[in-house]
This record gives sequence, structure tokens and C-alpha cells, in this order.
Amino acid sequence: MHMRVFSFCFLLFFSCKQEIHDPYQLVIANASVFNSKTLEVEENRTVFINDGRISKISVSKASDLKEENGIDAKGRLLTPAFIDVHNHLNFVFGDTIVITDPGEFEKARRKFSSQYLPYGVTVVRSAGSREAHISMEQSWMESHPDYVDYYPTGGALVSLDTKFYNHTFVPDDRSVESKIREYHELGFKHVKVYSLMGPKQVRKAVKIANELEMNIFGHIERAIISIGEASDYGLRNFEHAKTLFLDVIREYEVEGRNLSALPPDDNENWRFREYEVFNLLNTKDSSMTKMIERFKENKMSLTPTIHLYAHPIGLTNVELKIPVEPDEQVNWTAEKLGRAEMGYRALSELVSTLHKEGVVLNTGSDTYYPGRSILSEMLLFNEAGIAMDEVLKIATLNSAASIQMDNVYGSIEVGKKAHLVLFEKDPLVSPINLLSKKTVIKDGVVWSMN
Ligand SMILES: [Zn+2]
Repeated sequence: MHMRVFSFCFLLFFSCKQEIHDPYQLVIANASVFNSKTLEVEENRTVFINDGRISKISVSKASDLKEENGIDAKGRLLTPAFIDVHNHLNFVFGDTIVITDPGEFEKARRKFSSQYLPYGVTVVRSAGSREAHISMEQSWMESHPDYVDYYPTGGALVSLDTKFYNHTFVPDDRSVESKIREYHELGFKHVKVYSLMGPKQVRKAVKIANELEMNIFGHIERAIISIGEASDYGLRNFEHAKTLFLDVIREYEVEGRNLSALPPDDNENWRFREYEVFNLLNTKDSSMTKMIERFKENKMSLTPTIHLYAHPIGLTNVELKIPVEPDEQVNWTAEKLGRAEMGYRALSELVSTLHKEGVVLNTGSDTYYPGRSILSEMLLFNEAGIAMDEVLKIATLNSAASIQMDNVYGSIEVGKKAHLVLFEKDPLVSPINLLSKKTVIKDGVVWSMN
């Protein structure tokens, strides 16, 4: 018996000594690893990757560099890759393109991923798309190192027949239930509700999604249902910081308050009016204070999408070279632009206030050039007063948690998918370095344009 134990140990010792092991898929040595849980940077670490996942992290040794498939990080910052929780396919493929030919699915997937991977975004969740795209979305669900991991949602649910291509009409409780069950059968794990949905239908949607353990999120702005009602029914993930303002202003309209200081809510003025609503209410308004309190108390998460309000008025970083698309262009006088900029500052102040109050924020694009827009959103968070280490946490761990996938993504830990960004220059030293050259690793494979 003793002999057997002894020989077993001897063999173990022998095999270690010889370092007989299959080569790792990838080894990143001498990295400064960003810990998205503690916000600390752990220096001089080696990250070992196998089968697309992180298999070991240890203090770097000289021998790590001798591993096959090794990268010498030379002390550079290594972070988890970024997540976009709010995509619509039309921003990549156009409003009128419908891809139904299976022969086109892979080409489309490549095009879609090319808008994300160069910018360090490796995971994308749909926030509603046309039902005609379901077959393509299903074909994208199997993970592949060359492409982003994509999580479909189906159409955003509405109980008013908007006939908008990204919406799916579910007029009553029964159709809400059958549609969510249908999506569940397809393997979808996310459900989106849009503000043009009645309270009863939202309540039903939350109930069914919870039963099926699907992640439910919504764009709610008191069109039919208010944020307050939706949160009373159990909705916890909300979209767009602007909705907090719009929800409050609509409450004031219903109450018949004098809002004559605002431009009219018509086709010509609605966009400018939104900025003026931000100016009028800002974070000091008593209903806004209650709204912030509600988000905090009920542990509601928010996808701010403030880039959408910064970009048309020229407040996004020029180095990102994001074109302003025709439907984003505003043709305002310098005075109006000044008012809009002030309004944008009120919007971004709301975001930093929510963050300070402990509300979990995440990153969503909801626009053209989505990968670059995620980087823009991160820089705008930082300009709003959120420190860069917190911003990195928002784009990684918080975003993963908001889509209930923080067991797979969002931090550099053993067992998690190896979705990583190695920065040429450190964004923790200077935020603009977020735009510096990146080595992007998806499923343990160094991504390159091909
Ligand atoms: Zn959207």
C-alpha cells in the first residue's frame, strides 16, 4: 500500500519536473490584470487559456515566456472585453435590408462582428429586431472565435400595433405568454418590452419571463405604462437615461402643470424639446429625486445611452471618427446648440448621480457604428465624472450582470471565457488611452481582420 502511494507521488513529481503538458491555447505573460470586481490592477500576472476559457492565472515566471502561443504583455493593461447590451440589427444592415437566405448568414455575421471586435466589444445583446431575422439570429447563436457572441431577443413587445419592424405585436395576456414561450423554445434568453405596452401585458411578460428564467428589460417612458408601474410589476432592467426625464414630464402634463417654457411636442421640435426637458427638470426636481430613489431602492439597472444625445450636437470624441448619419443631423442655430449642450450636461449629470447612488449602469449602443459608440459612451461616462476604473467595470462586469451572464463574462477569472483586451496605452493613466491600439482576444484567439 505504502509502496503504491510512494510510486504514485514519484510519478507525479517526475511528470511535473519534465513539464510534459500539451501547449496552452494562449498564454499572456507579464500583464497588468484589471480586476473588475475590486477595481485593482494586479501586476506581473500570466493568464493561461485553454479551450477558449481562462484556465489559470499566476504570478509571472521567466519560463512563462517560453510557452508556445505566448504573448509578452510587457506590463500593459489587460481588461475583460466590453459588452453591448443594446443593439438593433438595422443600424448595421440598414432599415430596409431583410436577410433571409441562409447562404448570406455568415457573411452578415462577419460584417456585424467587424463593427465590434476591433473596438474590444465581444458580446452583443439584441434590444429588439424584426421577426424575419430570427433564422439568421439563431444561426449566430453558436459561439465562434471569429465573431461576437450574440444574444437575440426577438421583437420588442408592444400591445399597440405600431407596425414598426423591430416591434412584435402582442395585444393581450395570452399572446404575451405564447410569444415569450415561442422565443424561449427558440433558445432565446432575453425579452424586451417597449413603452407602448399596457400595464397588464407588462405584468404578464415579467411573470412569464421570470418563470422561464429569461432576462427581461424595457424601454419605459410613460407612453402607456410608467417606470413606477413597471418596477412595481417586477421589471428591473431599464433603458435610456432620458426615459427618467420623459416619464416625469409626462406625469406633469397629465397633472396639467404649466409647461409653456418647453417647445411644442411636434414633428419639428420633439428632438430639441427633449434637451429642454432635461434643462427644465435636471436632477433637482422633486419627482426626479424620487425617481433616482426608486432606482436605488428597487435595485434597478440602467443602460444610459447618452452617446445618442452627445453625438448629434458634436460632443463625442473626434478621434473616434463616428460619422453623423442623416437621421441624426440637427440644423440648429448656435443658441439652440448651446441650450442642447446644457441639456446634455443635465442628462449626463443624472447618469453620474445614479452611479454615485449605487445604481448599476451598463453599456449599450442603440445606434450606428455600435462598437465605436460603446467606446464613446465609456468616454462620456468618464467626462460625466465617473472614474475610469468604474467605467471599465460598467462596460464589463456590470453589463455582464445586467444580462445575467456574469458567470461567463465580465472579469478575468479562471473558468470564464477568454474575452480580453490588451491595451497599447493605459486608459487608467489617461482616459483617452481607451482609444489606443488594442489586441483583442475572443475565445482565446487573437482577433485580426481577415
Ligand atoms: Zn433601442
